[in-house]
Amino acid sequence: MCGIVGYVGHRDALPVLLEGLRRLEYRGYDSAGVALRPADPGLWIRKSVGRVSDLTARLEAPPAARLGIAHTRWATHGGVTDGNAHPHTDAAGRVALVHNGVIENMTQLKGALEKDGVRLVSETDTEVLAQLIGRY
Ligand code: GLU
Repeated sequence: MCGIVGYVGHRDALPVLLEGLRRLEYRGYDSAGVALRPADPGLWIRKSVGRVSDLTARLEAPPAARLGIAHTRWATHGGVTDGNAHPHTDAAGRVALVHNGVIENMTQLKGALEKDGVRLVSETDTEVLAQLIGRY
């Protein structure tokens, strides 16, 4: 069962998000990830298979940010890999998405996106939704 944490406020987002992920660890998961939206344009995203502590070990020089999302994943679509861990983004890298559950019509949505030239980079149903939001 996955876990989702989001933060927007006056504090530094990353410590809040990581503490949220640690509190959700009891639910069980196979990978974890975080996306920050710093003041400068662009998203800063890090993901890792394994424990929240494995993710934390990859968080070198994070930017200051007061807005972010984080996720612990329990895979339903696609293997347990860094690339399939959440957050997922649209092609332009403007949208970052974490998601709990299953997108039942993933195959149809994926087919429509690919027909329009969108290249998906993960095996997950979640990326389909991130790409759709980005496209529209
Ligand atoms: N279906 C999504 C995936 O496989 C989300 C799974 C979950 O709820 O963690 O990445």
